Amino acid sequence: MSTERAASPLPSMLKKLGAITAIRDTQLVEQSLLRTLAPIVGVLETSLYRISSQYQITHILHHSRTGSRDSDGAERISERIDAIRNETNIDEHIREVIDNVRLLGQACHRRRGEGLLFCYPLRSGEQQSGYLIFERGHVLTPMEEAVITGVLRVYSNYYALLDSSQRDRLTGLHNRYAMEISLERLWEELSAAPPAQARRDCYWLGVLDIDHFKSINDRFGHVIGDEILLLVSRVLGKTLRRTDLLFRYGGEEFIAIVEAGDREAAGLLFERLRTAVGAYNYPQVGQVTLSGGFSMVSTTVLPKSVLERADRAMYEAKKAGRNRIRHYDTLRAQGVLEEVESGSITLF
Ligand code: GH3
Ligand code: MG
Ligand code: MG
Repeated sequence: MSTERAASPLPSMLKKLGAITAIRDTQLVEQSLLRTLAPIVGVLETSLYRISSQYQITHILHHSRTGSRDSDGAERISERIDAIRNETNIDEHIREVIDNVRLLGQACHRRRGEGLLFCYPLRSGEQQSGYLIFERGHVLTPMEEAVITGVLRVYSNYYALLDSSQRDRLTGLHNRYAMEISLERLWEELSAAPPAQARRDCYWLGVLDIDHFKSINDRFGHVIGDEILLLVSRVLGKTLRRTDLLFRYGGEEFIAIVEAGDREAAGLLFERLRTAVGAYNYPQVGQVTLSGGFSMVSTTVLPKSVLERADRAMYEAKKAGRNRIRHYDTLRAQGVLEEVESGSITLF
């Protein structure tokens, strides 16, 4: 393991930093950060934690390396990255060291058993947006500390830049580009999952479009129109669960990707969104409604077609009088919609 560090640490690290900033996907950038830092600090395991606005630990990335020797004596290192989405069972020492860093605003370490647990904050502007955790037997040298801080600074700046390119400026929600990346990734994950798990994990994509939004702009002006978009995005975000994904797809259209065991459960979730938006009292404007369509994210349907299906179901909701939710397969079974596939095999 140490041979990897002794060889040529600086050129190798610069090469890895170059590789990090060539990536255009925030999740892959996180993975690459852990891959870069583990050999620098000489540890086998590193983790990255993110904290939600409600101070809950939301996302953990775990990187581990194992070293072995070939018959010719050369060292081989195998790596493994695990993404854990909803871990609630967080080690008490990790919670404590994260709390220290959060309060003090700087890197800390504390003893855990025989070793030392280190925690470095990841910054997004002035705020702490995540935490890098690793354990080591002894303290860091000033040089090691400087290198970690430097790498984290480059990473944080780059991550923030990338993240802002995937967010909508008005609402702060992830944008259409981020939605395409997420849907494609989900589709790949489902394709790679064992059949039993794929049957259990059901995801649904819903297109939600505000009704008669043009007339809100016409009657109250664009500034109030923008305010409505912001409020609707907040109501949707509050109504969804922590694990659901919400995007501003464009104009007055939103997309939610949710996990639900069956069609009924998914339908209830989208209905809940529709009801919440309809029940809110919007200053000056009064009531605002939306229409939605949803379809299952299945590996037998290309991501682009899943989107098309949900969109066609949404148009049926508009045609039926607006302020309602429609399900693609139900409309097909009723003969309301005919199957039209794009026939394209390129994703997006
Ligand atoms: P429908 O019920 O059929 O969906 O009717 P609609 O009026 O909501 O739909 P239409 O597509 O005719 O109009 C959408 C309007 O949304 C037109 C566009 O000017 C407005 N819009 C799109 N983006 C924004 C934005 O960022 N801010 C504001 N204020 N308006 C926007
Ligand atoms: Mg629209
Ligand atoms: Mg509309």
